[in-house]
Amino acid sequence: MVKHMSENDDARLGTLCVWGGETEKNFWLGAVEVPVVNSVTFGYKDVDKWLAVAKGLQAGHIYSRNTNPTVAVFEEKMRRLEKAEAATSFSTGMAAISNTFFALLSAGDRVVSITDTYGGVSKIFLEFFPRFGIKVTLCKTEDYDAIEREVEKGCKLLYLESPTNPTLKIVDIRRLANFAHKFGSIVAVDNTFATPINQRPIELGADLVIHSATKFLSGHSDAMGGVVCGKKELVDKIFHFREINGASLNPVAAYMLIRGIKTLHLRVSRQNDNAMQIAKFLESHPMVEKVFYPGLPSHKYHEVARRQMSGFGGILSFQLKGGFEAVRLFLPRLRYAHLAANLGSVETITGPPATTSHVECSPEEREALGIPESLIRYSVGIEDVKDLIADLEQALDYLKTAI
Ligand SMILES: *Cc1c(COP(=O)(O)O)cnc(C)c1O
Repeated sequence: MVKHMSENDDARLGTLCVWGGETEKNFWLGAVEVPVVNSVTFGYKDVDKWLAVAKGLQAGHIYSRNTNPTVAVFEEKMRRLEKAEAATSFSTGMAAISNTFFALLSAGDRVVSITDTYGGVSKIFLEFFPRFGIKVTLCKTEDYDAIEREVEKGCKLLYLESPTNPTLKIVDIRRLANFAHKFGSIVAVDNTFATPINQRPIELGADLVIHSATKFLSGHSDAMGGVVCGKKELVDKIFHFREINGASLNPVAAYMLIRGIKTLHLRVSRQNDNAMQIAKFLESHPMVEKVFYPGLPSHKYHEVARRQMSGFGGILSFQLKGGFEAVRLFLPRLRYAHLAANLGSVETITGPPATTSHVECSPEEREALGIPESLIRYSVGIEDVKDLIADLEQALDYLKTAI
């Protein structure tokens, strides 16, 4: 007889990746894997019971835009991993972020955030917020004092991301969350790059944690999704906005994400190890100008990263000598990397910010954000690191002769 885990049981992360959300479920016909329930609606012979479920007085499902059994397992798994009171899911990471904003903010509210948020998020801030009368102030990502000064002036939401894309800047989550709470602000953190294996923002004081599940949680570049975990009172509001507005997660994608998360702890610990070795190798190569990786002691906020992360993650970036021409020559030489925009997959994926994270910016805007044109973002896969290093080495050695 399997001993069922209780709500408060403190199973470790590796166990929660596999079992989270799945121990107390009584799956159809004794299936041991989560069934994909594609049914859009759920029928009731007893009208009183139907009414009770519809009113939320009894457990059950009515319509899959609101809730769905497969999707619910994904949400519960993520809730457990992020140590949150509640979780709700979305069709994409951007849906998770935009629904959070529009569920919690009203005209006249003010948001404080950082200049290095994900490209789509800064688009929402700068392109859409003005139309809804929501104000936003963006601070330099690593100027914690400046962020505090802006929070002190009053804001409804402090929105953070750490590590950031593509230069792996680190935000001091505990310090800023504590400060913001003194002034009554809600604190949300995009934890996509770190994953709950490497960083748990709720333990550091955040109210909400957001993921693009498309990245490491899926882990195989074959499913899109998003999730918000955190305080029940806030997640309920965000769920309500989503159930009406309809950016719901598809049950097939939910199943792919559940399957992906079962190996999250294995993949991420391998990616942490691979990335560390690759960062050290790159730092020692004469054709590399600079390496950005929070695990390197040369990283400006390495100490903050050490304090708040239990691993430094699978993403690094590096600047080549020789400008964008070097990028153009270098990338096609790589054998074990997709040149593509996604990240967090079992395969190594790489590309310059000009075609990936900051495709919508001009070269001048990228420069203003401190993103050099010769930068390459490298999302390390789970391959044998010796092959990845040999691959990088032959491409860098070629640059020596070609530049
Ligand atoms: C990809 C990404 C998003 C957006 O997620 P989608 O699933 O592509 O909508 C948000 N934040 C970060 C940090 C990301 O990398």
